[in-house]
Amino acid sequence: MGIQKYPDDAAAKRDILEAGRRLYQRGYVAANDGNLSARVSDNTVWATPSGVSKGFMTEEMLVKLDLEGNVLEGTYKPSSEIRMHLRIYQEAPEVLGVVHAHPPVSAAFAAAGLPLDTALLQEAVVLLGVIPVAPFALPGTDALADSVAPFVGDYNGALLEHHGAVAWGGSVMQALHRLESIEYNATVRMYASMMGIERPMTNAQIEALLKLRPEWGVTGGGVPKGRD
Ligand SMILES: [Zn+2]
Repeated sequence: MGIQKYPDDAAAKRDILEAGRRLYQRGYVAANDGNLSARVSDNTVWATPSGVSKGFMTEEMLVKLDLEGNVLEGTYKPSSEIRMHLRIYQEAPEVLGVVHAHPPVSAAFAAAGLPLDTALLQEAVVLLGVIPVAPFALPGTDALADSVAPFVGDYNGALLEHHGAVAWGGSVMQALHRLESIEYNATVRMYASMMGIERPMTNAQIEALLKLRPEWGVTGGGVPKGRD
């Protein structure tokens, strides 16, 4: 008996609906924005439909696709951003969940083209690392998938320039939690800059925090900038 790597269809769908409700309740999506997916085998995922509020989805609205984008189950049209999701799964076999939304403070950093790359908070250094900016690309295109692909192996998420944010992980819930952490850290950084504070932690502090990563089960994320 090996460890079960993938969720079954029912668990994947349940997590997508729950994560969609939380995105909506937190104000991370306006109107029908955002999209979520969960991988259930090497080559298949469940994904959200387009044109539907992600806070009020039912199971029947979800769509099963292969990684080439062929619809296997479901009657709704998959989200226009599904190509970005499929590309992330192709890049990283360990990724089992992807969540994309437009959380407002993250979106402001994305609009400014500013990565979240300075070390301000301890847990962010250990768990999240650097959140880079994937360069401008039209929504729903292969160019958007191409802009994110280079970051998938080394990071836990990315800002999408002039668009929003995306996070990935070992489950839909882990991807959602990372997206929440991205927005939280963007918010703290915004407050700090409003207070006129430009005070990242020291390089020695960062080094000590990075040593916690193996113990915390963190394998990547890049190293945020500090000061001497
Ligand atoms: Zn979007």
